[in-house]
Amino acid sequence: LYLANQIAAGEVVERPASVVKELVENSIDASADNIEVTIEGAGRQLIRVSDNGTGIHPDDLPLALSRHATSKLSSTEQLGMIASLGFRGEALPSISSVSQLTLHSRQADQPCAWQITTDQDPIPSAHPQGTMVEVRDLFFNIPARRRFLRSDKTEQQHIATTLNRLALSQFDVAFRWQIDKLGAIKLPAAISQPQKLQRIGKICGNSFVRDALYLEQSYQDIDIHGWISPPSAHRAQTDVQYFFINGRVIRDRLINHAIRQAYDGLLPEGRQPGYVLYLTLPLDKIDVNVHPTKHEVRFREARLVHGLITKALQETLNTAQP
Ligand code: ADP
Ligand code: MG
Repeated sequence: LYLANQIAAGEVVERPASVVKELVENSIDASADNIEVTIEGAGRQLIRVSDNGTGIHPDDLPLALSRHATSKLSSTEQLGMIASLGFRGEALPSISSVSQLTLHSRQADQPCAWQITTDQDPIPSAHPQGTMVEVRDLFFNIPARRRFLRSDKTEQQHIATTLNRLALSQFDVAFRWQIDKLGAIKLPAAISQPQKLQRIGKICGNSFVRDALYLEQSYQDIDIHGWISPPSAHRAQTDVQYFFINGRVIRDRLINHAIRQAYDGLLPEGRQPGYVLYLTLPLDKIDVNVHPTKHEVRFREARLVHGLITKALQETLNTAQP
């Protein structure tokens, strides 16, 4: 079983940033509206994620670290209708098989918090409502993985990118993170449009926000909204390219192609569009169960989605033409 966890870990836990992603997604799934992340040693020494979410019942704590013990799926029929970010019950057991993992959790109606570590039964602990997970010495028992990690700076950048994506995917959650000695990032919950733009500015840069065109379109039960850069504000880099489907960060060829097509002929050679876009569509129109890290999706109506994205962007770009 331990070996199975380690094999699964290879799929889910590639680097410190993957741990950050899984833990923060769990906090989001637990309805937290405040999430704090602390990173030491570029994630090699410590990854700590704490939230004010629903917490885990003491009886369920030992289960949380065992394989396929997800609380988010009660039947296989649900596999096609996945709304929560996690659904495989693989992340915590995988991470705990390649690190020293400690989890504290308390539900609102419990008299105290409980703490669990990889090989120990739960013991009472002190913690407010919510959950805190500490992951220390990542890959201590897999030297090959540890050697595969890049410089501190690169791993820190991967972590920052991961947190940026998560923060853009959940405006109503307040975030705070500290990556080693880099400046602390504080993002209050963003409800109004100006608050959202403020958060986008902190993540994507104020120049993106200053020039950005807002778009909002729907077709049948598919909606797209968000911000795109006008052709005149093209960028040299792909640093502001965020696409979310039903709250999930997605990197997908079909989407890239649809966006590129909208900007076709408008951008100078080699220049990049900037975008922060949100697509929502019924769960039965996509299949997210493609890869454990869930960056890819399959569309049941790929051509329709492609066409809708291109059209929405083209219309917005056209109205902005001088
Ligand atoms: P999954 O997210 O796929 O269900 P995980 O291994 O990530 O699997 O987590 C296992 C279970 O532990 C979750 O289903 C959930 O019940 C519980 N859990 C993990 N993190 C949290 C958290 N921050 N708050 C509340 N429950 C959590
Ligand atoms: Mg999870």
